[in-house]
Parts: sequence; structure tokens; C-alpha cells
Amino acid sequence: QDDQFKKVISHAKEYGYVFQSSEIYDGLSAVYDYAQNGAELKKNIRDYWWKAMVQMHDNIVGIDAAIFMHPTTWKASGHVDAFNDPLIDNKDSKKRYRADVLVEDFREKISEKIEKDVTKAKKRFGDVFDEQQFRETNPNVVRRQKQIDEITERLTKVQEEGDLEGFKQLILDLEIACPVSGSKNWTDVKQFNLMFGTKLGASADSAMDLYLRPETAQGIFVNFLNVQKTGRMKIPFGIAQTGKAFRNEIVARQFIFRMREFEQMEMQFFIKPGTQKEWYEHWKETRLKWHLSLGMGEDKYRFHNHEKLAHYADAAADIEFKFPFGFKELEGIHSRTDFDLKAHEEYSGKKLQYFDHEDNASYTPYVLETSIGLDRMFLAVFSNSLQEEELENGTTRTVLKLPSVLAPVKAAILPLVKKDGLPDVARKIVDELKWDFNVIYDEKDAVGRRYRRQDANGTPFCITVDHDTLEDNTVTIRHRDTMEQQRVNIEDLREIIKQEVDV
Ligand code: ATP
Repeated sequence: QDDQFKKVISHAKEYGYVFQSSEIYDGLSAVYDYAQNGAELKKNIRDYWWKAMVQMHDNIVGIDAAIFMHPTTWKASGHVDAFNDPLIDNKDSKKRYRADVLVEDFREKISEKIEKDVTKAKKRFGDVFDEQQFRETNPNVVRRQKQIDEITERLTKVQEEGDLEGFKQLILDLEIACPVSGSKNWTDVKQFNLMFGTKLGASADSAMDLYLRPETAQGIFVNFLNVQKTGRMKIPFGIAQTGKAFRNEIVARQFIFRMREFEQMEMQFFIKPGTQKEWYEHWKETRLKWHLSLGMGEDKYRFHNHEKLAHYADAAADIEFKFPFGFKELEGIHSRTDFDLKAHEEYSGKKLQYFDHEDNASYTPYVLETSIGLDRMFLAVFSNSLQEEELENGTTRTVLKLPSVLAPVKAAILPLVKKDGLPDVARKIVDELKWDFNVIYDEKDAVGRRYRRQDANGTPFCITVDHDTLEDNTVTIRHRDTMEQQRVNIEDLREIIKQEVDV
């Protein structure tokens, strides 16, 4: 697992997808730059989302709100008071942990042990194995499951009660049962606000304290009425937005999975109070379908329904993805009630209500939110696509099987040799195709090596110009995933590529 993840990170660098920020100064922790291919992949994911959410829905429109917002926004949203993570320091290792993540890591360790036992037993008993019965009666599994339940119960309790002393005690107990750090020397648990602060204005006394937005959602809420009126939107309707968000994460690890500066793709769907249950189910299903449409495999996704809800929600679920380090949250679907609009009404003194002509009444709409991290989606797609394949001739090839619609470069045009006029024909094909697709020209090295380079780069098609091309206007088109080659007419290239990369 770790090895696979290391390969993902180094491949992302080697092929110009993701670089560490300010690398010449040794980087900045949990901040990354998207390189020439990464920026294209990221843009394609964003476009794929925008198309599905905005273009395909006549009742959803998109906006682009500013990163800076009036500071009262964050009082109203609850972020000033409640956007905290509990943190704990280990005095020996001088490492800082998120207390809840530490507990969850421990819980995960135990469930891994259970799964190992189950797999072992499955192998041993073969066809006659009754998994459910094993889980319910095997003493080791039962004992461990009980431990997990106890931990979950204690975690929920200390979180709900904000009992920081209890939190510390829970960690100390877990360290004794199954050490994570090998040390018992912990500080107290402290609450740490995740928002980045900055100042607006030149002089010291007139400067205003601002925050960099920790989520894009609030830019939608404060614009709710403006959009509804100017767009003459009728409930139910949605407002979508993609953009940067900033969080001073305590544990920033796992590459672009958890960053301090990242991008979100969010949609707030405004509905009539009382209809939130159906819309919640609707959006859970719709968003899962969007993921499945990329063809990365149904087994890579699962729902995780939240038992403990944030202060604004009456139901919430995550779509989890199987990253190289296990199933983790990729997207959240939240039934946010009227919490945000009501709070903004209260703090701004302005009404944020909708007049329903059918009911002849005004109300504050309820909201369903779908919220996905663009960078996390990037990591999901990229890590899932990177594969090592054994070939028939005994060699291996590294291939990045990106969904074609998302691939940064759709086709590479390769003259077989650098002479006899082949480069000119190849360049002409590039000039024709570039109106519709991002294509590149490559003449360096033997053609086999160029194929491998494009495989590793994720390019779905290689188009080779050879001497026959000069006679009959045909080229060889090679498919990345199957490595199959076809002879086709130059005029047909556009349609062949389009068939595969268009949605
Ligand atoms: P987590 O529990 O992982 O911290 P969250 O529950 O705080 O995430 P939300 O506030 O629901 O996340 O944000 C919605 C989405 O934004 C997440 O599903 C995730 O894809 C993305 N996201 C949140 N924080 C980060 C981050 N620090 N780096 C990258 N993506 C993030």
C-alpha cells in the first residue's frame, strides 16, 4: 500500500502532474503546485463536474464568488466559534496530532485485524465458510468489535460534550492497549481554529481582520437572493461554484489528499422545507452516478452515513473512495436545513426568503449540499489509473489509464522517422486536430519508447505517420489501454478521437 502510494507521488512529479510548492526553497508543507499535465487534468475534472451539474441541469446555475468575504459571514456560519479541530502534542516526538484522527487510526487498526482474521478463515474453510456466523461468534472478532464500539461511543461522547480532558484520557487508554506513537507523554487536548486570518487595509488602526474562506459554500448563501431574483429561479433550484478554500490543517499528510490550500466544487440546492429527505436521497444517488460514469469501478466507492452531525446538518453522508491508503472521504452530501440562510438573516438583518407563488407564502428555503474536493478527486483518478502491466513478452509497462475524457493530452502525433517529409505531415495533423483537442507532437527517440512515454503520461491515442502515409493518406492509431493498432484515414482521426473523449 505504502509502496503503491509512493509510486503515485513520484509518478505525479516525473510526468509533470504535481510538484511541491516552492520546491527550490525545500517546499511548503501541505501546499502543492499543478504542473503542465496536472493543470490540464484538474481543469478537465472541473469541467466534467461543471457540465454534469450546471450545463445538464436547467435549474442549476453557476457563480464565482470572491475568496475574501465580510468577516461577519464567518460569525454567522459558525466558523469563528466552531470550526475547530482538537489537537494534541506528543512531548517526546514533538509531533502534533489531530486527537480525533489519532483515535480513528487506532479504530482502523483494530478493524484491519478483524478483516485479516476473516480473510484467513475464508481461505481455510473455503465453500462452507459462513462469514456472518464467524463475525458473530469468533471470540477474537467479537472482542475486537466490542473494543471498536466502545471507542466509537467514547469518541462521540467526548466530541459532543467538548470534554477535552476525557479526550486525552481516551488517547492515553488507547496508547496502552495498542500504541500508535510508543509514548505516553502527551500534552492536554486543545481546540485549534482552522481559518487563516489576514488583514484588509493599509493603516494599522483602520485595518480589518479578514479570513481566507475555509469553504466556498458561504459565497453561495450570501448571494442566494441576488441569484434567485436576477435569474428568476424557482424552487427547487441550485447554485454551483468551484474555487479555492483554505484550512490551516493540523495533520497535513497524504500528498494532495489534505492540503492547506485546495479547491472545492460545491452545489447548494434550495428546496421547500419538509422535502429534504427525498432530495438528500436524490443527490446521494445522482452524485454516486457521476462518479460511476468515469468507469473506475463500483467497488471503489462506498457511502458512509454520519452518526455525529455537524451543527448545521440534519443528515449527512460521505462518498468514500478506495485510495491507496484505504477508503476515505471524497465527497460530502449534507442536508443543511435552513441553518445558514437563517443565520445570515439574523446577522445581516436582511430577509433571505423565497416567495412561493403556488403556496402564496414566503419561507426560508432548506438546503442540500454536495461538496467535493477537486484535488482529492484528482488524487482518486490519478492513483486509480496508475498501473504496472505484465506484457506477453515478459516485460512490464507503466500505464496511466486515465478516463479518456479527463486525460490532459488526447493524442500524440509521431513521425516514424525525422526525415523524408514525415515530420511535416505529422505537424499538419497536429495543426488540424488542435482546434478540437489538446494534442502534442513528439519525434524524439524510437517509436516504441515514445509509445511507452505516452502510456505513462496517460495519453489515450498515439498516431504514427510512416512512409505509407505519403502514398495513401493513412496513419496508424494506437490505443493506450489495449495497445491495439489500426490503420485509418487521416480524415477519420477527428471522429475516432471524438467518439472516445467526448461525453
Ligand atoms: P475531512 O474530514 O477530510 O477534514 P471535511 O469533512 O472537513 O473533510 P468538508 O468540509 O465536508 O470536509 O469539505 C468537503 C470536501 O472538501 C471534502 O469531501 C474533501 O473532498 C474536500 N476537502 C476538505 N478539506 C480538504 C483539504 N484540507 N484538502 C483537500 N481537500 C479537502
